[in-house]
Amino acid sequence: MSEWPNNIARKAVLEFQAYGARGGATDALHLDANESPWSPPPVQSTGGFNRYPEQQPAGLRTRLADLYGAMPEQILVGRGADEAIEVLLRTFCEAGEDSILVCPPTFGYFATCANIQGAGIVEAPLRADFSYDGTLINDKMRAAGPSLKIAFLCSPNNPTGNVIDAKIVLDLCENFPQTLIVIDEAYGEFTGADSFADQIDTYPNLVVLRTLSKAYALAGVRAGVAIADPRIITLMLKVLPPYPIPRPVEQVVMAALTPAAMPVHEARLKLWKSERERMGQALKASPFIRKIYPSEANFLLLDIEEDEKLLRALAKYQVKIRDFRSILPGKMRISIGSVEENDIALAAFGVEVKAKRQNRIGEAHRKTKETDIAVRVNLDDVSGTTIDTGIGFYDHMLGALAKHGGFSLVLSCAGDLEIDAHHTIEDCALALGTALSDALGDKAGAGRFGAHIPMDETLAKVAVDLSGRAAMVFKGEFPTDHAGEFPVEMCPHFFESLAQTLGASIHIEVSGTNTHHMIEACFKGLGRALMPAFKREGTDIASTKGVL
Ligand SMILES: *Cc1c(COP(=O)(O)O)cnc(C)c1O
Repeated sequence: MSEWPNNIARKAVLEFQAYGARGGATDALHLDANESPWSPPPVQSTGGFNRYPEQQPAGLRTRLADLYGAMPEQILVGRGADEAIEVLLRTFCEAGEDSILVCPPTFGYFATCANIQGAGIVEAPLRADFSYDGTLINDKMRAAGPSLKIAFLCSPNNPTGNVIDAKIVLDLCENFPQTLIVIDEAYGEFTGADSFADQIDTYPNLVVLRTLSKAYALAGVRAGVAIADPRIITLMLKVLPPYPIPRPVEQVVMAALTPAAMPVHEARLKLWKSERERMGQALKASPFIRKIYPSEANFLLLDIEEDEKLLRALAKYQVKIRDFRSILPGKMRISIGSVEENDIALAAFGVEVKAKRQNRIGEAHRKTKETDIAVRVNLDDVSGTTIDTGIGFYDHMLGALAKHGGFSLVLSCAGDLEIDAHHTIEDCALALGTALSDALGDKAGAGRFGAHIPMDETLAKVAVDLSGRAAMVFKGEFPTDHAGEFPVEMCPHFFESLAQTLGASIHIEVSGTNTHHMIEACFKGLGRALMPAFKREGTDIASTKGVL
């Protein structure tokens, strides 16, 4: 009898030799894969696009292992979690003999893949309240016997939004050691529940699926993973095509998941969850809704009445939601969008949005050889500021600018501080200006503003014109050459860089005898000057020309 997991794999998969692909060109002279020696036009000299990629690009695998708290050899990267589902079926289910278990209503692709593979489908439906029925799952699996190779459980479940009780999962792993227990955590980032990835070391039959399509905004890029015992991954890699991850996909994923970008993802998730709560509350007032199911995902399952009238209203507002009525009477699923999108959806549902909140968010991502920066500003929410540039004094100054400017700032930078502070300070200023300009949109409400900031012996006078034209004039002499690790010549340079990407004229005059006070007064003063520009109500543009 062969060892786990070969004893449950398809015979054919065990018997053939893995395809011997050579992907991932190294420094050697590569005349072994019939590739072109030239980059494709337009010349992408750094892309390596003329070379086949590795089956599992090492850097990507390591990054995703780190993201999900696993070891690289426990990870299979595929074209979405969807491909991991397909490969599981093709690796373990013999056509016409084996079967899988699903708990409907759930994600339809489990059954689709079983149908394509010719595997049977055993159903252990969710209870009426959509909770998982552990006893029923157990009974069905016992009755099916060893030909039931895989149990697919989805948590939070799509389309119902609820999570599975961890005890059900761990008992199944314990009681059915010859069956793969697969937990699809496509919406794992949206719940407070722990990932089952922590249990992979304990249970050799547990498989966790994750995707970059939902929380990480990469649905169009196609990347997702299976996390499991390395022996399971090895078998699955035999079935996975030789080059599933195109090089541009690897590059986009790595860029979207740089350490600097992670605080931005966190801020988005926080807003997403608060919008889920807001929508859950607000939709209660809709005349079309009988019931809203509690959700730990980025969608809500709704029980609808007057369906046809609702569909007409949705069409009028051009809002699409997912219709589940053919399998779940009266049910439709709505995804949680941006604040503005959700407000439009509420209007379609006949809910009056009082005190329409603006939510002007701007983001900038900037990566060069010297710095890797992600910035997110929200001009309409002061909560959630986190700043990490690696320069304590600079963090303090940017914090003062955001606080006095009345906006929240998430800014994270990995810079070449081993050289000096110059690139970090300059590039953060450029990225911040871009993010602010992004948040201001067409600059409605912008104009000309000023502030005077005294700090003990120091006085800073700041005047700003959000004119779209960049200029910076700085008058002041600092008594020392540094404040902390912050070189004083970078103070005017910061404002110059910011003016450039913000599209503003910034005039600063500062006098005093304490360098720390003087720099801080300049940053605070700019915040104070910008505050009315950012806070301005209405849509008037403060220029006779009509545009800024
Ligand atoms: C969206 C979704 C997936 C698919 O993820 P991809 O990585 O885009 O293939 C998998 N499982 C569930 C439950 C989903 O809702």
